[in-house]
Amino acid sequence: MEYVKSKIRDVQDFPQQGVLFKDLTTAFKDPRALHIIGWDLSQLYRDKGVTKVVGIESRGFIGGSILAFELGAGFVPVRKPGKLPADTLKATYDKEYGKDTIEIHRDAITEDDIVVLHDDVLATGGTMAAAYNLVKSMNPKKIYINFIIELTSLNGRANLPADAEVTSLLKY
Ligand code: AMP
Repeated sequence: MEYVKSKIRDVQDFPQQGVLFKDLTTAFKDPRALHIIGWDLSQLYRDKGVTKVVGIESRGFIGGSILAFELGAGFVPVRKPGKLPADTLKATYDKEYGKDTIEIHRDAITEDDIVVLHDDVLATGGTMAAAYNLVKSMNPKKIYINFIIELTSLNGRANLPADAEVTSLLKY
């Protein structure tokens, strides 16, 4: 993980003043760092019977796809409004810098699914809490929550459901 850490770029004041942005693109472009991220993510969920990984647009698609592939699970995108072609469920929420809406296909998850929700960074937790509520409304057997990076100073875990099992590979 120290190797992965060394490949993450900090960008000050992006996308607005006061935000220290954790840029994972510099880790994803590095073959060894990408391999470690994919492997370590998958080790967290081996033998848990995961059937679907839900990735949050857009940076959650990268780790989420790798995790789904490694676990032999399916991949489901949570997207910004107007991007998904079929019938969707929607949620609006506050985030570290503004408001946003997310959508998921209404038929993406079934009651038989064991789901890992994945995003790259846990900041305030608003995005993930909204995604959790969308998936929860489809009544799967179990929902796990996972991030590559957790920004502990923003205490995003406080905004996530108390009963959810939350993991992250790196804490700052
Ligand atoms: P939040 O809803 O506040 O937890 O925000 C999470 C989403 O915003 C994730 O998709 C992150 O990619 C992105 N994000 C928020 N803050 C940061 C940050 N400081 N560095 C990198 N990504 C961030």
